Amino acid sequence: MEVLKSIREAKSFLASLDKRPSLIPTMGALHKAHSALMRRAAEDSSFIVSIFVNPAQFGPGEDYDTYPRSFDDDLRLCEEARAAAVFAPEVSEIYPEGFITKVSLSELTRSMCGAVRPGHFEGVATVVLKLFNIIRPEQAYFGQKDYQQCRVIERMIKDLNLDLEAVILPTVREEDGLAVSSRNRYLSEEERSQAPALYRALKRAALRVTGGETDAALISRELSLELQREMPLSRVDYAGLYSAGTLQPLREVSEPAVAAAAVFLGRARLIDNVLCGNK
Ligand code: AMP
Repeated sequence: MEVLKSIREAKSFLASLDKRPSLIPTMGALHKAHSALMRRAAEDSSFIVSIFVNPAQFGPGEDYDTYPRSFDDDLRLCEEARAAAVFAPEVSEIYPEGFITKVSLSELTRSMCGAVRPGHFEGVATVVLKLFNIIRPEQAYFGQKDYQQCRVIERMIKDLNLDLEAVILPTVREEDGLAVSSRNRYLSEEERSQAPALYRALKRAALRVTGGETDAALISRELSLELQREMPLSRVDYAGLYSAGTLQPLREVSEPAVAAAAVFLGRARLIDNVLCGNK
């Protein structure tokens, strides 16, 4: 497995391949959800994992400096998963002096996480486009846990006629339902014991929809209340039912919906979502 630290190294490695690889963009601190993406990618073709903690997607006061970094362990996992290469550039390689271009996706990024993390999805879309341009993958793999990110990337691929396919894989969970995340390691024992309530509450909201309730505002209120009750150590950042396509908050369930929420729990901010299906 090659470890590529610069765009020049990446380009010369890519030139040695006889087929376009696929790509798994990550911020490192790899865990079993990343391994699941790698397993799936390995079934399809040879793949490259990018490891880059992207400063542009962190807001002021967020955890860029303290975001978990475990490069040696990450390399081991990638090697075990038979990655062809790891692309791990320095920040200055991706954002050289004078860098000003941003990819912006207006409406899609004004709700959910976008409403509470201004600039986050511009940072994500811009770096992902750069990674696509550097690696030129045939497919790129993403996890449904970051639902809004998946929609943003799919939209960007369509709008900008990018020549690749985004493959979205289901959320990987711990046995008690908590979505696996690099930030779960921030949780104290007591916080960790409350964390699975997030998924339970989202599932209940989705069940209300499949059970026939069409008052989305009511379901959203119930969801927030359940989170406050079941996770007393947390603070709800947002919670509700959103259009699965446009991501706009719903008042009525008249189109496919997703129940989604973010909660602050101790030092961690947990996000999760459950698709409600057609109504
Ligand atoms: P990250 O390193 O957290 O930026 O994540 C890299 C990729 O892994 C993204 O496409 C995430 O959506 C995906 N991912 C992270 N956690 C999970 C999870 N629990 N289940 C599925 N995909 C995930």
